[in-house]
Amino acid sequence: MVKTIVKTAAVAGLAAVLAAGTATAATADPASPGALSAGERLFPGLGNGGYDARDYDVSFDYRPGVTTMDASVTMRAVATQSLSSFGLDSAVAQIRSVEVDGQAAQFTVKGEKLVVTPARPLRAGHAFTVRITYVADRAKSPQSPASTPLPPELAEVIGVWQNTPDGFAVMGQTDREHAVFPSDDVPGDPATYTLRITTPADVQGVGSGTLVGKHRSGDRVTSVFRVGRPTATDVVQVAAGHFTEVDQAGPNGLPIRSYVTKAAKPSALDTTRQTPELIAWLEQRLGRPYPYASAGTLGVDRVYGGGVALETAAIPTYSAEALAHPEEVSTMVHELTHEYFGDAVPVRHWDDMWLSEGHATFYQDLYDSEHGGQPFDEKAKSGYAENNQILKQNGPVARQTYAAGVLFGTDLGGKLTLYALRNLVGQPVFDRIERTFFDRFQGRPAATQDYVDVAEQVSGRDLSGFFHDWLYGTTTPAMPGHPDWRA
Ligand SMILES: [Zn+2]
Repeated sequence: MVKTIVKTAAVAGLAAVLAAGTATAATADPASPGALSAGERLFPGLGNGGYDARDYDVSFDYRPGVTTMDASVTMRAVATQSLSSFGLDSAVAQIRSVEVDGQAAQFTVKGEKLVVTPARPLRAGHAFTVRITYVADRAKSPQSPASTPLPPELAEVIGVWQNTPDGFAVMGQTDREHAVFPSDDVPGDPATYTLRITTPADVQGVGSGTLVGKHRSGDRVTSVFRVGRPTATDVVQVAAGHFTEVDQAGPNGLPIRSYVTKAAKPSALDTTRQTPELIAWLEQRLGRPYPYASAGTLGVDRVYGGGVALETAAIPTYSAEALAHPEEVSTMVHELTHEYFGDAVPVRHWDDMWLSEGHATFYQDLYDSEHGGQPFDEKAKSGYAENNQILKQNGPVARQTYAAGVLFGTDLGGKLTLYALRNLVGQPVFDRIERTFFDRFQGRPAATQDYVDVAEQVSGRDLSGFFHDWLYGTTTPAMPGHPDWRA
């Protein structure tokens, strides 16, 4: 049953716990409650303190015709302070039970927070396991408390649960994955994942990562996927449906398995089959192998998320309708770039989202320009002319005014920042900055200042003023190399 009494700390108390950091907290005695916020400026209630999530093992039992699914998640984490209780973000339909290290734990649910009180406090540095059984309901896609409420008909279209005629998929970005599984749902706490989707034998389960097992029990099949490198919660995909599987090999034998709904037009399969060559182009451009153990393209039978694509880990998600158009390869390059920047290198905070979107848009435009699209400089110039309007609407690139700006507001400004940097330091130095940044931060979250630090170290220049103007300014700076351009 869901209990409704919860202990809450005053906001100032939460801030103090956050500010205390691990050094002080590690010696704190007696144990205290973990913070119920990670201090995200645009998402104040999101995330949790006092532990570091390392791995999630999530199971869903999908049955056609009903929207509810029995589900469970086991989170492995390490306490970063002595904990009397701790929070997880949760917007699932019903929590059934919670165990910590195999023992029943007390829990309360209030709003989108599940607060767990273990039978005994957890010592700082202690690795612990939380197992939660729950019910997920795909008919319920709660809207983000951080965003302006949407009209119900629109909220349904872009909600976290994407119900399709033949199954479902999810769209967790930015702060909705915790309607799929309780978690520390912030990009700054990436983890690895095992995803188990049980379906009738004639339905395929699909998840982020690499298919590592298929187990049949009677007329039910469990498909098991593994994401083996630390990745943020918001890009975890789980889906079910009737798919055509496309098996291919990428560079150096990279396994590529795509799933496209059987309802798709044949041209959607043609577009999907270009996945290996797009990855090869990116590997060559970025000078680094594709970061996950496998790759793929997921095309679902629905206008996914109201018509967006999402960089879900190791298998970006698209509407099959969009994939039916050959020009969707441009979007595929965008999402595949996110596998490097955004997925393999998660952003530290949502204010750092330009690091993800800027790179994705930069390499997308570069790919287009080399494949018959608009010349790179020409596209940058037209973007430059529009940028003041975008800044006025959404706020500075690395300090968006609205939570929704995280989804779309930083693409152009982030790309122009990278374009300006490339013009300033030259292509060879820019390429070294990109590779150094990727090498240093793959598998752990990177903040804006981390990129600035790498750029300064590699170029040997003081770039603080440059980045400040491009990322925190309210008007577009002069473009290096193009003094004649007008914003
Ligand atoms: Zn993007």
